[in-house]
Amino acid sequence: MSDPAALPPHRLDEAASEQIRQAVRSLCARFPGEYWRALDRERAYPTAFVEAMTEAGHLGVLIPEAFGGSGLGLTTAAMILEEVHACGANAAALHAQMYTMGTVLRHGSAEQKTQWLPKIASGEVRLQAFGVTEPTAGTDTTSIRTTATRKGDVYVINGQKVWTSRAEHSDLMVLLARTSPKTEGQKKADGMSVFLLDMRLALGKGLTIKPIRTMLNHATTEIFFDNLEIPADCLIGEEGKGFRYILDGMNAERILIASECIGDGRWFVDKATAYAKDRVVFGRPIGQNQGVAFPIARAHAQGRAAKLMTYHAAELYDAGKPCAEEANTAKLLASEASWQAADTCLQTFGGFGFAEEYDVERKFRETRLYQVAPISTNLILAYLSEHVLGLPRSY
Ligand SMILES: Cc1cc2nc3c(=O)[nH]c(=O)nc-3n(C[C@H](O)[C@H](O)[C@H](O)COP(=O)(O)OP(=O)(O)OC[C@H]3O[C@@H](n4cnc5c(N)ncnc54)[C@H](O)[C@@H]3O)c2cc1C
Repeated sequence: MSDPAALPPHRLDEAASEQIRQAVRSLCARFPGEYWRALDRERAYPTAFVEAMTEAGHLGVLIPEAFGGSGLGLTTAAMILEEVHACGANAAALHAQMYTMGTVLRHGSAEQKTQWLPKIASGEVRLQAFGVTEPTAGTDTTSIRTTATRKGDVYVINGQKVWTSRAEHSDLMVLLARTSPKTEGQKKADGMSVFLLDMRLALGKGLTIKPIRTMLNHATTEIFFDNLEIPADCLIGEEGKGFRYILDGMNAERILIASECIGDGRWFVDKATAYAKDRVVFGRPIGQNQGVAFPIARAHAQGRAAKLMTYHAAELYDAGKPCAEEANTAKLLASEASWQAADTCLQTFGGFGFAEEYDVERKFRETRLYQVAPISTNLILAYLSEHVLGLPRSY
């Protein structure tokens, strides 16, 4: 075991890490497959699970101790999300709070932090909505059209967001809007600002939320802003610098999503392995056939490799070192590994893979998302091509 004194303050030694993983596993055991299946059927929000994770302190892991959190690093946050997914659960209702909060932590004013962070840590308020994507701009974020116009003590918001997940279950939203138009001669990233918006005060006063039903239970929505007035002190950091603040959080987001994929991959490999040992066809366990065993072994190997990259990226992040290449690579490898594992698991289960009661089809649908959101595979490859390999920019 390593000497805890030699570790950076936010890092845990192996025994403490294992204790946290074990605590998450015990908590998740209270929320078995039946719980997630019922929610999936109803497209309902996992309120009891979110409350339990908050009470256990897992959701405040990145909030500094001074504000009521545990002040641990991204490596610990990644471990928590990995274990949630390895248990067959889903951390969609947890991860947004972890990475959106980074914007408040790094760029929020002392007043904003004092006002919100302790309440987020205690679970009194939820910060789980992140309004960036718009229907027309898509991945081209600098083309967003939602505007925030300063008028005296308020900003007036007009526009539309899409895929704003958990908006109906969150009190606060981190919102990206244009405070000045995209004009010639100006950098594309300039002129966008970030706001911390109290949705409880805004609903019905210019903010409308419309749920979108999707192939997985993700509580995602469309948001409409119609002359919504918000206090000027909702602005985070400096006006016009919002896109940079959001970009700052991207590496954390990619590492956390990768850790969920690693957890999913473990779950699929464990499920497939157990089934391949038990299921007897032609007088022998199906796993005795290399055509069944090898894809599972390959999925295991791919997951292990992606995990090394994910925790390497997390350690760099926690050490304050550049980690964009590693975070992007981790997200790419982990999302592909979890999808391979999902496909292999479904194939191993044969017809039973399609039956709800095994959870395989649910997890299969859930893990597919990560190659599209929060950032699609092509855009990760575009980052690596341009920024790591120095190839010409493609867009
Ligand atoms: C369930 C769900 C939840 C989400 N939650 C949130 C949320 O909470 N907040 C939020 O802001 N957003 C959220 N999103 C949005 C998500 O981040 C976007 O869907 C994702 O970034 C892709 O953007 P897009 O859908 O607009 O695809 P588009 O930008 O329209 O791209 C479509 C396809 O074309 C490819 N493509 C586009 N341009 C290029 C190019 N130059 N080179 C190569 N390929 C290219 C993309 O890779 C993609 O495969 C969510 C999405 C989903 C489905």
